Amino acid sequence: MKPKVAFFDFTGCEGCQLDALNLEGEEVIDLLNAVDIVNFREVMTEREDNYDIAFIEGSITRESEIPRLQKIRDQAKVVIALGACACIGGVNCLKNHVSMEEALRIVYGEDARYYDTIPARPINAVVRVDYYVRGCPPITAELLKVIKALLLGKQPEIPNYPVCVECKMAGNVCVFERGMTCLGPVTRAGCDAICVNSGRHCWGCRGLVDDPNIDSEKEILQKYGLTAEQLVEKFKIYNTYAEVTK
Ligand code: SF4
Ligand code: SF4
Ligand code: SF4
Repeated sequence: MKPKVAFFDFTGCEGCQLDALNLEGEEVIDLLNAVDIVNFREVMTEREDNYDIAFIEGSITRESEIPRLQKIRDQAKVVIALGACACIGGVNCLKNHVSMEEALRIVYGEDARYYDTIPARPINAVVRVDYYVRGCPPITAELLKVIKALLLGKQPEIPNYPVCVECKMAGNVCVFERGMTCLGPVTRAGCDAICVNSGRHCWGCRGLVDDPNIDSEKEILQKYGLTAEQLVEKFKIYNTYAEVTK
């Protein structure tokens, strides 16, 4: 019996699911031979409530999403957080910096009374999560790696060292040398420093490494005459939930 796989979306832009649709090549054919996809709103109309593996995209931002997520957890043998919103709360948590009344007013104006909202959170703040596919959106190779490991009953090997390692291996000149700031020293690698390779800096979309070397980041800031506040503003984009719950 092939395991049955379902994809579900909560609050997010659905970019992670779109990215999953970009999987291609022989590996995908192998994958489709190994699993049955029974629920994926973006690509199919059929829906089955009997599934083994649930991919969850998006963070939890409304009260009604909590029982829905719990029901999925009760049904699925394995729950996988897909993307930054689901794994770490992501950009949705920016609203946690203001009151929920203010957040509704900013977004919906005088129609705010028709909507409800709660402070945004990652899915592991509500249910147990078995695997994480990080990033905004995730790297498709990592998505495949996690699925393969799952099918083999193994833990996927996800880097637990900073983006700087991959950035240096790619031969980049550090953006601090160019007067920019970067969250690479405390962000979990696995993306091959794709943003720095493209001339930008790391925004921290893969979340913090388990034991971030804050002292090292402080040393870098001192070396370049920068303040922690300059970095915290960047940190908030994806990692507000980690910041407000620490
Ligand atoms: S992690 Fe990024 S791409 Fe995925 S749903 Fe959230 S905002 Fe969209
Ligand atoms: S701080 Fe950013 S640019 Fe500098 S090495 Fe680390 S990841 Fe690369
Ligand atoms: S470099 Fe940083 S922001 Fe860019 S994909 Fe990697 S972790 Fe995300």
